[in-house]
Amino acid sequence: MYRSLKKLQDDVLNNQTTCETITRSYIQTIQQHQHLNAFVEVFEASAIAAAKTIDTKIANQQPLGKLFGLVISIKDNIVYKNHVATAASKILEGFKSPYSATVIEKLIAADAIIIGRTNCDEFAMGGSNENSFYGAVKNPIDNTLVSGGSSGGAAAAVAADLCMAALGSDTGGSIRQPASFCGIIGLKPTYGRVSRYGLIAYGSSFDQIGTFTHNIEDAALILEVIAGGDDYDATCSKNAVPNYFENLIQEKKYKIAYYKNVVEHESIDVEVRNACLSFLEKLKNDGHEIHPIEFAELDYIVPAYYVLTTAEASSNLSRFDGVRFGYHAKEATDLEQTYKLTRSQGFGKEVQRRIMCGTFVLSAGYYDAYYSKAQKVRRLVAEKTKQTLEEVDFIVCPTAPTPAYKIGEVSDPITSFLGDIFTVQANIAGIPAISLPLYHTKNNLPIGMQIMTARWNEEKLLAFSNVLM
Ligand code: GLN
Repeated sequence: MYRSLKKLQDDVLNNQTTCETITRSYIQTIQQHQHLNAFVEVFEASAIAAAKTIDTKIANQQPLGKLFGLVISIKDNIVYKNHVATAASKILEGFKSPYSATVIEKLIAADAIIIGRTNCDEFAMGGSNENSFYGAVKNPIDNTLVSGGSSGGAAAAVAADLCMAALGSDTGGSIRQPASFCGIIGLKPTYGRVSRYGLIAYGSSFDQIGTFTHNIEDAALILEVIAGGDDYDATCSKNAVPNYFENLIQEKKYKIAYYKNVVEHESIDVEVRNACLSFLEKLKNDGHEIHPIEFAELDYIVPAYYVLTTAEASSNLSRFDGVRFGYHAKEATDLEQTYKLTRSQGFGKEVQRRIMCGTFVLSAGYYDAYYSKAQKVRRLVAEKTKQTLEEVDFIVCPTAPTPAYKIGEVSDPITSFLGDIFTVQANIAGIPAISLPLYHTKNNLPIGMQIMTARWNEEKLLAFSNVLM
């Protein structure tokens, strides 16, 4: 098993192993870990074919892509030509994509090997992977615990060495929180840094594709490849993509803020709070300037996030009508019944709740009371975050208020929503954020620390993270 792409590439180039051997061994490991429920499908044929192509290129001394040999999984909401993608929903059962997401095209062009698609919460809605049509993902560290979500399969797959890296999507924390629960690195780039073309939409103005890795070098290399402008996504920036990998070595002293009311928040687990306090102490001892500040809007961000994302979801998910994609209720005899039966049978409970909630907040009588208000909160939070990050380099806090909890333990949606309290700010403001597996509880459960920075500052974020890891 490899935990560093550079090491794998050295071994392959020195003829110690081949991409095909490595790919086959990952496929075998996935089969041995089926109980985790991390993968919903292994792309055995296409992955081995890709590995063989790369091995041939090496034998013929042809030029190689930057990610050659990287065995990477994709979340089940990223489409890959001629492969099934379902967003872990029954409504997309058997849907084969006629095209590939831009990130997939870029991975393939860089000679990465796409090993399979990973389990997630249905349409990326959830924080524990328990809302999946395929069932919950088990946390590799303790199989009675959730993996986190919504990209739970991606996090579990990397943590259990079923692949070297994974692509996930983060709308309100879906990369960072499962990374924290499973003890690996999860990076959500700036909104617009990576194309969303081919990502099955949840909340389009929040969704962003990002990475799960064991180390910062791999995160930097993958981001370098998947970032950059795309004519198929008008929200994707054409700003030049920096050399994240080459610029990882920068030992600087920074100005770092933390929110006092976050650290003191009632929802925070004692061990998580203590870990955060130790982290702040360590940063101070390392010579960084630490600034305690207040985040007055803290209690509004989760409600604003859920009003806005459910509104966007209600519109995005209207395309699943039983006519164009996947599942179709066969007993329907007319068009209206086709819509009603397909959608009530095809969508799970949480997705239905969100569609109804989103439809409600957008409806004529309630638009001003909910949707417009939430937009105002968004603007305010984005502005304040921007101002803060003009004064300091980073904001740090725990990624999640608790470590991973038991499967089945959190059943009411409000408790689950409140688990997103520290992650949604980055999506509301569109800034990059990373979760680093820096601490553990007494029972050895991972605790992730989150670092946020200003838009387009991934280079600085990755360089700082590299020093901390
Ligand atoms: N838990 C959040 C939600 O359910 C975040 C999901 C995500 O980032 N996709 O909306």
